[in-house]
Amino acid sequence: MKTKKYLFDGSNKCQLNDIPTNSKEDDVDKESILAETEKNLEKIAILQDIFYADKREGLIVVLQALDAAGKDSTIKNVMSCMNPQGVTVHSFKQPTTEDLTHDYLWRVNRCLPERGKIAIFNRSYYEDVLVVQVHNLQKNYSMAERIISQSEKKFFEKRYQQISNYEDYLYENSYRVVKIFLHVSHDKQKERFLERIDKPEKNWKFSSADLKERAMFNEYTEIYNTVISKTSSTHCPWYAIPADQKWYTRYLVSQILLNELEQCKSKYPKLSDEAESGLMECRRQLVNEK
Ligand code: ATP
Ligand code: MG
Repeated sequence: MKTKKYLFDGSNKCQLNDIPTNSKEDDVDKESILAETEKNLEKIAILQDIFYADKREGLIVVLQALDAAGKDSTIKNVMSCMNPQGVTVHSFKQPTTEDLTHDYLWRVNRCLPERGKIAIFNRSYYEDVLVVQVHNLQKNYSMAERIISQSEKKFFEKRYQQISNYEDYLYENSYRVVKIFLHVSHDKQKERFLERIDKPEKNWKFSSADLKERAMFNEYTEIYNTVISKTSSTHCPWYAIPADQKWYTRYLVSQILLNELEQCKSKYPKLSDEAESGLMECRRQLVNEK
């Protein structure tokens, strides 16, 4: 499977600088990848139907990335094959004042899917160890002295552990969490920003704050390395996938999603003998209707 080399399952450390941002190394042909993506989306549609009917697991797909890596368009593409009744998308923006009066998982818990449903997180609780760490936002949080007085290192080490524990908790409560980092290059980000500035219909996607974040590209990359290394496990893995070519990103995401749904081994619910004979009785009534 082409996604294997992008997998972090706790047995390996992440070094984003060694991971490609495009498909060159994989020596793939765009036409066949597009065709394979279509096939994957068809298979996902079938499996999602069974997953929805089975209602035994919930699936959370976390998408993380720097700006302009293509989170939105990836979501749009992958969602195109799904039954909207069984999937929700949650975008985690800057926390509201109300969010900030609670622990950082409070707003996340409210977005957990019901079993049988898929939730796509466009950004997530991982922002609480990423943007918060890069900008030291925790310093202004209203929290007890015993927390604020910790060293930064300790504060975030604890959060990595809390996140791993939270994901274990979810797994043990019949959820699956899969995390995907869209790995875009510094050059491609610039190209996409320029496009957002030059094309009026894309202006709304750009904010001058994006440039401030871009200036911290290396800091983010370093922290992502740590975060991915420390929060990967066999049951809640990370994938860091190339994001410079959208067609390849979409293929890899479809492959990852398909793999997760296959692992669920969902089945259509089987009727009890009693329910089945009830169904047969209804059938008889319908057939004999005058
Ligand atoms: P786009 O790629 O289209 O710009 P986006 O996901 O960047 O989409 P924005 O509305 O531009 O969406 O930005 C959301 C911002 O909210 C991001 O800069 C993100 O870092 C920030 N954010 C998310 N969660 C937190 C958090 N817990 N604390 C502080 N900032 C956060
Ligand atoms: Mg943004």
